[in-house]
Amino acid sequence: MSGPSLVIPSEGRFMRRLSSNEATRENIKLGPTVVVPPKHLMAPSDASEVAAAMETARHELQDGASPATPTSPPESSVTDKYAFAFDIDGVLIRGGRPIPEAIEAMKMLNGDNEYGVKVPYIFVTNGGGKTESERCVQLSKQLEIEVSPGQFICGHTPMREMAEKFNTVLVVGGEGEKCRLVAEGYGFKDVVTPGDIIKDNEDTTPFRTLTPEEYKNSRARNFAEVEIEAIFVFADSRDWASDQQIILDLLMSKNGRLGTRSETFEEGPPVFFSHNDVVWSASHDLTRIGMGALRVSLEAMFKAVTGKELKTTAFGKPQIGTFEFATRLLQQWRKDTHGINCPPDTVYFVGDTPESDIRGTNEYNKHAENNWYSILVRTGVFQEGTKPRFQPKATVDNVLEAVKHGIEREYRKALKASIESTGVILE
Ligand SMILES: [Mg+2]
Repeated sequence: MSGPSLVIPSEGRFMRRLSSNEATRENIKLGPTVVVPPKHLMAPSDASEVAAAMETARHELQDGASPATPTSPPESSVTDKYAFAFDIDGVLIRGGRPIPEAIEAMKMLNGDNEYGVKVPYIFVTNGGGKTESERCVQLSKQLEIEVSPGQFICGHTPMREMAEKFNTVLVVGGEGEKCRLVAEGYGFKDVVTPGDIIKDNEDTTPFRTLTPEEYKNSRARNFAEVEIEAIFVFADSRDWASDQQIILDLLMSKNGRLGTRSETFEEGPPVFFSHNDVVWSASHDLTRIGMGALRVSLEAMFKAVTGKELKTTAFGKPQIGTFEFATRLLQQWRKDTHGINCPPDTVYFVGDTPESDIRGTNEYNKHAENNWYSILVRTGVFQEGTKPRFQPKATVDNVLEAVKHGIEREYRKALKASIESTGVILE
């Protein structure tokens, strides 16, 4: 790519700066709300420039308190022309450990590259089962960088908006009481777990007995008097058989009251999944089944037992809302840091799952006013030798190659634009 006679251009030479009057795109409506971690974790004391600025942008979006026109932005060494969005599992982390190239990829984005350019980045994950602040702390350690909660978009984020709508809800999945706590943190008023139901009636699940700890943590209720209004699968089920039994009981009940049976099987509560990934990349060499598989299983089981179709809802990638939120976040960030009220021209989305990461990016790109460029890596779900159903713009070995691909592509674009506008090659 870059020949020896070329001097690497500085960002400023190629960047066409717009004034606030030219920045026409208005803030669009607020979409899914991003999770707010505890206050003490939100102070980006020594966060990197991007992490801190993204945190500010996220709060402005959430509060809806963004100024109508950009004010003079602070000087920034970070490019605003493009950004990266990363899936986490199978791209940066695998089986709880960082993928070796991930740390170097992060360093490259933070300016350690031949062009000296810093590139903004966010994380868009379908993973769950932990509070978002926990996930941020963990990711910061694993990648040896500061990650702010503002850079973090989760699949189950839209569930937060449903806390007002339903009173008593069943929350399924995750370790121990974790997901109950996450749901309560989202503002759900009355959160029931499968453990509570088994504690009330141990005959519910013939092959599962609560451990002493589960029994202690589960809450005593009389479910003959409780109407469960919705079911939320927050994270992967740890016990498919008993969780599915309980979900099925509720789906076949009259208005979510356990112990009843509807005659029409149309009176049960709705079911929501935080994402729809059928498989995911864990520490095993081969992919493991995930929440999307539970969804398929549940729908098939409902059909087998009742003869009726079950309609369920899934959030996360590839749902469009996740990408819309990412766009709004990047737009707010660009406005704050560079005074331009548009999202970066190109967003490189790096993922390992064709069905969620690549499909979502490609679909969103069809309607987005900026460019969403999908990059598939070979370190996760996708394995060489198979043909992905949803074709990425580029396929590379790992996340470091993905970052290099994007940065070099942007360099070539800037170089081409410079030659076209001046007719000379810069020296
Ligand atoms: Mg993944």
